[in-house]
Amino acid sequence: MTDDWMRTFEFVTVIDIFADFKPLAWMEGLTFFWPSAFLQEFINAKGNEFASVRINGEAYRLKTITGKRSHSDIAAWVFKDNCFFTPKPASAKLPFSYNIIPDQIRWLAASTIVRINKSKRQNKMPFPRWPLDLTVDSIEDIERCCVECEDIITKKRESSIQLTHDIDTPESLENLHLFLEIEEKHHVHSTNFIVPRGWKLDFSILEAVKKKGHEIGIHGYNHDNRTPFLSSIKMEARIDEAVELLLDYKIKGYRAPSLLMSAPLMEILGKHFHYDSSIPNSGGFYSSQRNGCMTARPFYYNGILEIPLTLPSDANLLFQNKKEEEILEMWIKLTKIILKSGGTVNLLTHCEKRYSGNKKMLDIYDEYISYLNSLNLPNLRTLSQLHGRLSIEHNEMKRNG
Ligand SMILES: [Zn+2]
Repeated sequence: MTDDWMRTFEFVTVIDIFADFKPLAWMEGLTFFWPSAFLQEFINAKGNEFASVRINGEAYRLKTITGKRSHSDIAAWVFKDNCFFTPKPASAKLPFSYNIIPDQIRWLAASTIVRINKSKRQNKMPFPRWPLDLTVDSIEDIERCCVECEDIITKKRESSIQLTHDIDTPESLENLHLFLEIEEKHHVHSTNFIVPRGWKLDFSILEAVKKKGHEIGIHGYNHDNRTPFLSSIKMEARIDEAVELLLDYKIKGYRAPSLLMSAPLMEILGKHFHYDSSIPNSGGFYSSQRNGCMTARPFYYNGILEIPLTLPSDANLLFQNKKEEEILEMWIKLTKIILKSGGTVNLLTHCEKRYSGNKKMLDIYDEYISYLNSLNLPNLRTLSQLHGRLSIEHNEMKRNG
Protein backbone atom coordinates (compact mmCIF):
# COMPACT_ATOMS: atom_id res chain seq x y z
CA MET A 1 0.00 0.00 0.00
CA THR A 2 1.51 3.32 -0.98
CA ASP A 3 1.29 6.51 1.04
CA ASP A 4 -0.50 8.09 -1.85
CA TRP A 5 -3.25 5.52 -1.66
CA MET A 6 -3.60 6.11 2.08
CA ARG A 7 -3.91 9.84 1.64
CA THR A 8 -6.99 9.41 -0.49
CA PHE A 9 -8.98 8.20 2.52
CA GLU A 10 -10.27 10.11 5.52
CA PHE A 11 -11.01 8.96 9.02
CA VAL A 12 -14.61 10.16 9.51
CA THR A 13 -16.71 10.10 12.66
CA VAL A 14 -20.44 10.47 12.17
CA ILE A 15 -21.77 12.85 14.81
CA ASP A 16 -25.41 13.14 13.87
CA ILE A 17 -27.85 11.76 11.31
CA PHE A 18 -30.78 14.07 10.61
CA ALA A 19 -34.39 13.03 11.15
CA ASP A 20 -35.42 12.22 7.59
CA PHE A 21 -32.60 9.74 7.14
CA LYS A 22 -33.47 7.09 9.71
CA PRO A 23 -31.94 4.17 7.74
CA LEU A 24 -28.56 5.79 8.41
CA ALA A 25 -29.09 6.30 12.15
CA TRP A 26 -26.98 3.23 12.98
CA MET A 27 -23.87 5.17 11.89
CA GLU A 28 -24.13 7.74 14.69
CA GLY A 29 -21.05 7.70 16.88
CA LEU A 30 -19.13 5.31 14.62
CA THR A 31 -15.95 5.96 12.67
CA PHE A 32 -15.34 4.97 9.05
CA PHE A 33 -12.69 5.28 6.38
CA TRP A 34 -14.27 7.03 3.47
CA PRO A 35 -12.53 7.81 0.19
CA SER A 36 -11.84 11.54 -0.04
CA ALA A 37 -13.48 11.73 -3.45
CA PHE A 38 -16.68 10.24 -2.04
CA LEU A 39 -16.67 12.67 0.88
CA GLN A 40 -16.02 15.70 -1.29
CA GLU A 41 -19.04 14.90 -3.39
CA PHE A 42 -21.38 14.85 -0.41
CA ILE A 43 -19.82 17.93 1.20
CA ASN A 44 -20.14 19.96 -2.02
CA ALA A 45 -23.60 18.65 -2.96
CA LYS A 46 -26.59 20.98 -3.09
CA GLY A 47 -29.35 18.75 -1.71
CA ASN A 48 -30.73 18.24 1.81
CA GLU A 49 -28.41 17.97 4.77
CA PHE A 50 -28.41 14.43 6.07
CA ALA A 51 -25.44 14.15 8.44
CA SER A 52 -22.86 16.02 10.40
CA VAL A 53 -19.44 14.43 10.56
CA ARG A 54 -16.06 15.16 12.04
CA ILE A 55 -12.87 14.91 9.99
CA ASN A 56 -9.53 15.72 11.67
CA GLY A 57 -11.30 17.68 14.40
CA GLU A 58 -13.38 19.77 11.99
CA ALA A 59 -17.14 19.49 11.53
CA TYR A 60 -18.76 19.18 8.10
CA ARG A 61 -22.31 18.71 6.84
CA LEU A 62 -23.09 16.15 4.19
CA LYS A 63 -25.84 16.82 1.64
CA THR A 64 -27.78 14.65 -0.74
CA ILE A 65 -26.74 14.54 -4.35
CA THR A 66 -29.39 15.47 -6.86
CA GLY A 67 -27.67 14.88 -10.19
CA LYS A 68 -25.48 12.18 -11.65
CA ARG A 69 -22.65 10.70 -9.61
CA SER A 70 -19.03 11.01 -10.52
CA HIS A 71 -18.02 8.07 -8.33
CA SER A 72 -20.16 5.02 -8.16
CA ASP A 73 -19.38 1.51 -7.01
CA ILE A 74 -16.94 2.79 -4.44
CA ALA A 75 -18.05 0.20 -1.90
CA ALA A 76 -17.18 -2.63 -4.27
CA TRP A 77 -13.82 -1.11 -5.04
CA VAL A 78 -12.84 -0.57 -1.42
CA PHE A 79 -13.84 -4.10 -0.56
CA LYS A 80 -12.10 -5.77 -3.48
CA ASP A 81 -8.75 -4.43 -2.51
CA ASN A 82 -8.99 -5.81 0.97
CA CYS A 83 -10.74 -9.09 1.25
CA PHE A 84 -8.26 -11.55 -0.17
CA PHE A 85 -5.07 -12.75 1.27
CA THR A 86 -2.48 -12.23 -1.41
CA PRO A 87 0.79 -12.81 0.39
CA LYS A 88 1.37 -16.33 1.62
CA PRO A 89 1.63 -16.37 5.40
CA ALA A 90 4.71 -17.97 6.96
CA SER A 91 2.75 -21.09 7.92
CA ALA A 92 2.08 -21.84 4.24
CA LYS A 93 5.75 -21.50 3.29
CA LEU A 94 7.17 -24.07 5.70
CA PRO A 95 8.71 -27.13 4.04
CA PHE A 96 6.59 -29.35 6.33
CA SER A 97 3.00 -29.12 7.52
CA TYR A 98 2.78 -26.62 10.36
CA ASN A 99 0.45 -29.07 12.13
CA ILE A 100 3.43 -31.07 13.36
CA ILE A 101 4.66 -28.10 15.42
CA PRO A 102 3.67 -28.72 19.06
CA ASP A 103 0.66 -26.72 20.25
CA GLN A 104 2.48 -24.62 22.80
CA ILE A 105 5.04 -23.43 20.27
CA ARG A 106 2.28 -22.71 17.77
CA TRP A 107 0.45 -20.66 20.35
CA LEU A 108 3.61 -18.74 21.13
CA ALA A 109 4.27 -18.14 17.43
CA ALA A 110 0.68 -17.02 16.81
CA SER A 111 0.62 -14.60 19.72
CA THR A 112 4.02 -13.22 18.67
CA ILE A 113 2.71 -12.60 15.14
CA VAL A 114 -0.27 -10.81 16.68
CA ARG A 115 2.01 -8.60 18.75
CA ILE A 116 4.31 -7.77 15.84
CA ASN A 117 1.37 -7.01 13.54
CA LYS A 118 -0.20 -4.90 16.25
CA SER A 119 2.88 -2.74 16.69
CA LYS A 120 3.39 -2.40 12.92
CA ARG A 121 -0.21 -1.51 12.42
CA GLN A 122 -0.23 1.40 14.81
CA ASN A 123 1.51 3.70 12.38
CA LYS A 124 1.02 2.03 9.03
CA MET A 125 -2.19 0.13 8.46
CA PRO A 126 -5.25 2.34 8.50
CA PHE A 127 -7.91 -0.31 7.90
CA PRO A 128 -9.86 -2.47 8.27
CA ARG A 129 -10.33 -0.99 11.68
CA TRP A 130 -10.24 -3.67 14.34
CA PRO A 131 -12.40 -5.13 15.88
CA LEU A 132 -15.20 -4.01 13.56
CA ASP A 133 -15.20 -1.94 10.39
CA LEU A 134 -18.50 -1.15 8.71
CA THR A 135 -17.04 1.20 6.10
CA VAL A 136 -18.48 -0.68 3.13
CA ASP A 137 -21.97 -0.83 4.70
CA SER A 138 -21.90 2.88 5.49
CA ILE A 139 -20.93 3.76 1.92
CA GLU A 140 -23.56 1.42 0.54
CA ASP A 141 -26.35 2.93 2.65
CA ILE A 142 -25.33 6.51 1.89
CA GLU A 143 -25.18 5.72 -1.81
CA ARG A 144 -28.66 4.18 -1.67
CA CYS A 145 -30.21 6.76 0.61
CA CYS A 146 -28.65 10.08 -0.33
CA VAL A 147 -28.39 10.06 -4.09
CA GLU A 148 -31.76 11.17 -5.25
CA CYS A 149 -31.72 9.63 -8.69
CA GLU A 150 -31.22 6.20 -7.14
CA ASP A 151 -33.47 4.00 -5.04
CA ILE A 152 -34.06 5.05 -1.49
CA ILE A 153 -33.83 2.28 1.09
CA THR A 154 -37.36 1.33 1.95
CA LYS A 155 -37.04 -2.19 3.24
CA LYS A 156 -35.47 -2.67 6.63
CA ARG A 157 -32.54 -5.04 6.50
CA GLU A 158 -33.00 -8.23 8.44
CA SER A 159 -30.13 -8.93 10.79
CA SER A 160 -29.20 -12.45 11.74
CA ILE A 161 -26.95 -14.34 14.12
CA GLN A 162 -24.75 -17.38 13.50
CA LEU A 163 -22.67 -19.46 15.88
CA THR A 164 -19.85 -21.51 14.38
CA HIS A 165 -17.04 -23.80 15.50
CA ASP A 166 -13.93 -24.81 13.59
CA ILE A 167 -13.07 -28.37 14.51
CA ASP A 168 -9.31 -28.44 14.00
CA THR A 169 -8.30 -31.42 16.15
CA PRO A 170 -9.64 -34.71 17.56
CA GLU A 171 -9.75 -32.96 20.96
CA SER A 172 -12.01 -30.30 19.52
CA LEU A 173 -14.42 -32.89 18.11
CA GLU A 174 -14.51 -34.67 21.46
CA ASN A 175 -15.27 -31.41 23.28
CA LEU A 176 -17.87 -30.22 20.79
CA HIS A 177 -20.76 -31.68 22.81
CA LEU A 178 -19.98 -29.20 25.63
CA PHE A 179 -20.85 -26.37 23.26
CA LEU A 180 -23.81 -28.08 21.64
CA GLU A 181 -25.36 -28.78 25.06
CA ILE A 182 -25.26 -25.07 25.86
CA GLU A 183 -26.76 -24.23 22.47
CA GLU A 184 -29.51 -26.83 22.81
CA LYS A 185 -30.36 -25.55 26.27
CA HIS A 186 -31.06 -22.21 24.57
CA HIS A 187 -32.79 -23.87 21.58
CA VAL A 188 -30.24 -22.73 19.02
CA HIS A 189 -28.05 -24.56 16.51
CA SER A 190 -24.52 -24.05 15.29
CA THR A 191 -22.50 -24.69 12.15
CA ASN A 192 -19.44 -26.89 12.65
CA PHE A 193 -16.57 -26.90 10.17
CA ILE A 194 -14.70 -30.20 10.14
CA VAL A 195 -11.16 -30.83 8.86
CA PRO A 196 -11.77 -33.83 6.63
CA ARG A 197 -8.25 -35.18 6.15
CA GLY A 198 -6.32 -34.06 9.21
CA TRP A 199 -6.87 -37.18 11.32
CA LYS A 200 -9.21 -40.15 11.48
CA LEU A 201 -12.68 -38.72 12.01
CA ASP A 202 -15.04 -40.19 14.57
CA PHE A 203 -18.15 -40.40 12.39
CA SER A 204 -20.36 -41.40 15.33
CA ILE A 205 -19.86 -37.88 16.76
CA LEU A 206 -20.65 -36.28 13.40
CA GLU A 207 -23.77 -38.42 13.15
CA ALA A 208 -24.96 -37.20 16.56
CA VAL A 209 -24.25 -33.58 15.64
CA LYS A 210 -26.30 -33.90 12.46
CA LYS A 211 -29.17 -35.67 14.24
CA LYS A 212 -29.53 -32.81 16.70
CA GLY A 213 -30.04 -30.35 13.86
CA HIS A 214 -26.61 -28.71 13.83
CA GLU A 215 -24.90 -28.14 10.53
CA ILE A 216 -21.64 -29.64 9.32
CA GLY A 217 -19.38 -27.82 6.90
CA ILE A 218 -15.88 -28.37 5.51
CA HIS A 219 -12.80 -26.77 7.04
CA GLY A 220 -10.15 -27.09 4.35
CA TYR A 221 -8.41 -30.37 3.71
CA ASN A 222 -5.80 -31.15 6.38
CA HIS A 223 -5.38 -27.66 7.84
CA ASP A 224 -1.87 -27.23 6.43
CA ASN A 225 -2.73 -23.67 5.26
CA ARG A 226 -1.61 -24.47 1.72
CA THR A 227 -4.86 -25.06 -0.15
CA PRO A 228 -5.46 -21.44 -1.28
CA PHE A 229 -2.01 -21.29 -2.88
CA LEU A 230 -2.00 -24.62 -4.76
CA SER A 231 -2.59 -25.03 -8.48
CA SER A 232 -6.26 -25.17 -9.48
CA ILE A 233 -5.99 -28.90 -10.23
CA LYS A 234 -4.58 -29.70 -6.80
CA MET A 235 -7.08 -27.42 -5.08
CA GLU A 236 -9.94 -29.07 -6.90
CA ALA A 237 -8.65 -32.56 -6.02
CA ARG A 238 -8.55 -31.67 -2.31
CA ILE A 239 -12.06 -30.30 -2.38
CA ASP A 240 -13.45 -33.27 -4.30
CA GLU A 241 -11.94 -35.64 -1.76
CA ALA A 242 -13.34 -33.63 1.18
CA VAL A 243 -16.84 -33.42 -0.25
CA GLU A 244 -16.80 -37.14 -1.08
CA LEU A 245 -15.73 -38.09 2.44
CA LEU A 246 -18.53 -36.07 4.02
CA LEU A 247 -21.19 -36.84 1.44
CA ASP A 248 -23.71 -37.99 4.04
CA TYR A 249 -23.76 -34.62 5.75
CA LYS A 250 -25.24 -32.57 2.93
CA ILE A 251 -22.35 -30.11 3.06
CA LYS A 252 -23.27 -26.63 1.86
CA GLY A 253 -20.47 -24.46 3.19
CA TYR A 254 -16.75 -23.97 3.47
CA ARG A 255 -14.51 -22.26 6.02
CA ALA A 256 -10.83 -21.85 5.17
CA PRO A 257 -8.28 -22.91 7.80
CA SER A 258 -6.67 -19.85 9.43
CA LEU A 259 -9.13 -17.86 7.25
CA LEU A 260 -6.63 -17.97 4.39
CA MET A 261 -8.44 -17.22 1.17
CA SER A 262 -7.34 -16.55 -2.40
CA ALA A 263 -9.31 -15.51 -5.47
CA PRO A 264 -8.62 -18.82 -7.30
CA LEU A 265 -9.83 -20.81 -4.29
CA MET A 266 -12.97 -18.70 -4.05
CA GLU A 267 -13.72 -19.45 -7.68
CA ILE A 268 -13.41 -23.21 -7.15
CA LEU A 269 -15.54 -23.05 -4.00
CA GLY A 270 -18.33 -21.54 -6.08
CA LYS A 271 -18.61 -24.81 -8.01
CA HIS A 272 -18.93 -27.03 -4.93
CA PHE A 273 -20.56 -25.02 -2.16
CA HIS A 274 -23.51 -22.73 -1.58
CA TYR A 275 -21.57 -20.41 0.66
CA ASP A 276 -18.17 -19.63 2.09
CA SER A 277 -17.56 -18.14 5.51
CA SER A 278 -13.84 -17.42 5.67
CA ILE A 279 -13.46 -13.68 5.28
CA PRO A 280 -13.38 -11.70 8.50
CA ASN A 281 -14.94 -8.27 8.73
CA SER A 282 -11.65 -7.18 10.23
CA GLY A 283 -9.07 -9.87 10.84
CA GLY A 284 -7.08 -7.66 13.17
CA PHE A 285 -3.60 -8.79 13.83
CA TYR A 286 -3.92 -12.47 13.03
CA SER A 287 -2.78 -14.05 10.89
CA SER A 288 -2.02 -11.34 8.38
CA GLN A 289 -2.65 -7.63 8.36
CA ARG A 290 -5.26 -5.97 6.19
CA ASN A 291 -7.38 -9.07 6.02
CA GLY A 292 -11.00 -8.03 6.11
CA CYS A 293 -13.98 -7.12 3.94
CA MET A 294 -15.24 -4.19 6.07
CA THR A 295 -18.83 -5.30 5.76
CA ALA A 296 -21.02 -7.22 8.19
CA ARG A 297 -23.51 -8.08 5.44
CA PRO A 298 -23.32 -11.31 3.46
CA PHE A 299 -22.50 -10.67 -0.19
CA TYR A 300 -22.18 -12.59 -3.44
CA TYR A 301 -18.74 -12.84 -4.98
CA ASN A 302 -18.41 -14.59 -8.33
CA GLY A 303 -21.62 -16.47 -7.72
CA ILE A 304 -20.90 -17.74 -4.21
CA LEU A 305 -22.40 -16.26 -1.06
CA GLU A 306 -19.79 -14.99 1.38
CA ILE A 307 -20.98 -14.83 4.99
CA PRO A 308 -18.29 -12.78 6.70
CA LEU A 309 -17.03 -13.52 10.20
CA THR A 310 -18.04 -10.41 12.03
CA LEU A 311 -17.04 -10.88 15.67
CA PRO A 312 -13.41 -11.41 16.68
CA SER A 313 -12.93 -15.14 17.32
CA ASP A 314 -11.96 -16.58 20.70
CA ALA A 315 -8.46 -17.33 19.33
CA ASN A 316 -8.01 -13.80 18.01
CA LEU A 317 -8.85 -12.36 21.45
CA LEU A 318 -7.02 -14.94 23.55
CA PHE A 319 -3.82 -14.38 21.53
CA GLN A 320 -4.07 -10.78 22.67
CA ASN A 321 -4.34 -11.90 26.30
CA LYS A 322 -7.92 -10.71 26.70
CA LYS A 323 -9.67 -11.95 29.83
CA GLU A 324 -12.95 -13.89 29.64
CA GLU A 325 -15.03 -10.95 30.93
CA GLU A 326 -13.45 -8.59 28.39
CA ILE A 327 -14.22 -11.06 25.62
CA LEU A 328 -17.88 -11.32 26.61
CA GLU A 329 -18.17 -7.56 26.91
CA MET A 330 -16.63 -7.07 23.47
CA TRP A 331 -18.88 -9.67 21.82
CA ILE A 332 -22.00 -8.06 23.29
CA LYS A 333 -20.93 -4.52 22.41
CA LEU A 334 -20.15 -5.44 18.79
CA THR A 335 -23.31 -7.55 18.47
CA LYS A 336 -25.40 -4.47 19.32
CA ILE A 337 -23.68 -2.38 16.65
CA ILE A 338 -23.93 -5.08 13.98
CA LEU A 339 -27.62 -5.79 14.61
CA LYS A 340 -28.40 -2.08 14.44
CA SER A 341 -26.57 -1.77 11.13
CA GLY A 342 -28.55 -4.60 9.54
CA GLY A 343 -25.55 -6.94 9.49
CA THR A 344 -24.93 -10.54 10.35
CA VAL A 345 -23.41 -11.55 13.67
CA ASN A 346 -21.13 -14.49 12.90
CA LEU A 347 -19.02 -15.86 15.74
CA LEU A 348 -16.27 -18.47 15.57
CA THR A 349 -15.18 -20.39 18.66
CA HIS A 350 -12.78 -23.33 18.96
CA CYS A 351 -13.52 -26.28 21.24
CA GLU A 352 -10.01 -27.16 22.44
CA LYS A 353 -9.42 -26.61 26.13
CA ARG A 354 -6.82 -23.93 25.43
CA TYR A 355 -9.39 -21.88 23.50
CA SER A 356 -13.05 -22.11 24.57
CA GLY A 357 -13.31 -25.71 25.79
CA ASN A 358 -12.76 -24.78 29.44
CA LYS A 359 -15.10 -23.85 32.26
CA LYS A 360 -14.53 -20.08 32.20
CA MET A 361 -14.90 -19.72 28.43
CA LEU A 362 -17.88 -22.09 28.31
CA ASP A 363 -19.53 -19.94 30.97
CA ILE A 364 -19.15 -16.79 28.91
CA TYR A 365 -20.35 -18.67 25.81
CA ASP A 366 -23.46 -19.60 27.79
CA GLU A 367 -23.88 -16.01 28.95
CA TYR A 368 -23.43 -14.68 25.44
CA ILE A 369 -26.16 -16.95 24.05
CA SER A 370 -28.43 -15.98 26.96
CA TYR A 371 -27.88 -12.39 25.95
CA LEU A 372 -28.76 -13.20 22.32
CA ASN A 373 -31.92 -14.95 23.45
CA SER A 374 -32.89 -11.98 25.59
CA LEU A 375 -33.10 -9.94 22.39
CA ASN A 376 -36.02 -12.07 21.24
CA LEU A 377 -34.72 -12.27 17.73
CA PRO A 378 -36.20 -15.04 15.65
CA ASN A 379 -33.14 -15.21 13.45
CA LEU A 380 -30.49 -17.30 15.13
CA ARG A 381 -29.76 -19.68 12.30
CA THR A 382 -27.20 -22.08 10.90
CA LEU A 383 -25.26 -20.69 7.98
CA SER A 384 -27.09 -22.85 5.44
CA GLN A 385 -30.44 -21.61 6.77
CA LEU A 386 -29.20 -18.06 6.28
CA HIS A 387 -28.03 -18.99 2.79
CA GLY A 388 -31.49 -20.43 2.05
CA ARG A 389 -33.21 -17.20 3.01
CA LEU A 390 -30.76 -14.96 1.18
CA SER A 391 -30.78 -17.00 -2.00
CA ILE A 392 -34.56 -16.60 -2.28
CA GLU A 393 -34.11 -12.81 -2.04
CA HIS A 394 -31.17 -12.89 -4.43
CA ASN A 395 -33.10 -14.79 -7.06
CA GLU A 396 -36.09 -12.47 -6.69
CA MET A 397 -33.80 -9.48 -7.17
CA LYS A 398 -32.28 -11.08 -10.26
CA ARG A 399 -35.72 -11.78 -11.69
CA ASN A 400 -36.81 -8.19 -11.09
CA GLY A 401 -33.64 -6.97 -12.77
ZN1 LIG B 1 -9.01 -24.09 11.88
